[in-house]
Amino acid sequence: MAKKNSREQLSCSFCGRVEGEVELLLPGLNGCICNECAERAVELSREYLHTYQKQRAAEIKLNELPKPDEIKDFLDLYVIGQERAKRYLSVAVYNHYKRLAQDKGDDTDIEKSNIIIVGPTGTGKTLLAKTIAKLLKVPFAIVDATVLTEAGYVGEDIESLLTRLLAACDYNVEEAERGIVFIDEIDKIARKGDNPSITRDVSGEGVQQGLLKLLEGSVVNVPPQGGRKHPEQKMIAVDTKNILFICGGAFEGIERKIAQRLNTHVVGYGAAANHVRQEDRERLLHFVAPQDLRSYGLIPEIIGRLPILTNLESLGRDALRQILTQPKNAIVKQYKKLLAMDGVSLVIDDDVLDFIVDKAIEYKLGARGLRSIFETIMIDVMYQVPSQHLDTYRLTRDYAAQQLEKSNFDLLANA
Ligand code: ADP
Repeated sequence: MAKKNSREQLSCSFCGRVEGEVELLLPGLNGCICNECAERAVELSREYLHTYQKQRAAEIKLNELPKPDEIKDFLDLYVIGQERAKRYLSVAVYNHYKRLAQDKGDDTDIEKSNIIIVGPTGTGKTLLAKTIAKLLKVPFAIVDATVLTEAGYVGEDIESLLTRLLAACDYNVEEAERGIVFIDEIDKIARKGDNPSITRDVSGEGVQQGLLKLLEGSVVNVPPQGGRKHPEQKMIAVDTKNILFICGGAFEGIERKIAQRLNTHVVGYGAAANHVRQEDRERLLHFVAPQDLRSYGLIPEIIGRLPILTNLESLGRDALRQILTQPKNAIVKQYKKLLAMDGVSLVIDDDVLDFIVDKAIEYKLGARGLRSIFETIMIDVMYQVPSQHLDTYRLTRDYAAQQLEKSNFDLLANA
């Protein structure tokens, strides 16, 4: 029943104002609401739902979470090979959830296990991190260690890597404190040279010391906008105790350190270590151990805080071939989709794919080069085909070779 005041006038059941005092009065079953109260109601319900949804998202329910084998299955959709690293990552992420859900009253405290992944560049470290991010139920940020410097130097303060994490969850500190940070190119902050007393390299070691503070778990004051351009900004205190850190790095040349260690260890003689064959180099990475990271220039305290050490393998011909066609967003699938939108079906001869892989290997471009080679080959097709009203376009090896030659790809690739 619409509410009426003493003079039988309709009035807002919330603020009591009558017709004429408000712009609009919406009648309901048992009362009315004015436009202003309706607007306020919408605002309040939005705020409430936002907070409620956040609280729900923050509650980690173990039985609703993907199990390690499910996490790995998901990674398999996007990343070719790298079985070992995928398993380690899947377990680490699952354990991270378990830590967040653990019974706090209990004596046993599950500690976090930060991870470090060693692998040649272009083998999927960042791809793994990005793919994990797609399925995570906690905030996630990727940061490049090369931009970090010790306070007072040009670059970003170490704390700023938490700025990204905060931004990823709308500056909700509680959520950020349960997040995961991927630090890429950690090898670039290694101390140059084995002997710390002789080669004191401020930028590397200073950054490592700063990073150590975050890895250990401490309350850090984070500039909300990062950088040092806004000295007036109010800092946000973030506790890193529960943040999981995943670090990745190419550690170029670490095979030599591994070989030296293994040789000295096994034969007691290290001279042959510098003559490691290429395939042995690749196999050596499997044996990477914390002491090799130390010889490479990471300080022992950092290594101690990254207890899970795993490696990525360099990608062979078969893996490169699969990367072209198999992952969910493989480059070939993307181009087929692009042309299909013009009503053209793209057919690629098998030897074209072999040719692209050969070129990626010849120019030492690895997986990263597959895309640029394919794009170079396809540029004229993508330009002409949409106006040619074809049903099918067939890509042949001869055409592909001709396109690469025409673009002087060899010169570009070696630039
Ligand atoms: P890095 O190890 O240097 O971080 P990235 O993850 O950035 O290498 O890989 C570069 C590109 O190469 C990716 O975007 C992806 O297209 C391709 N790539 C590399 N490794 C793989 C892999 N194992 N499976 C599928 N694609 C890969």
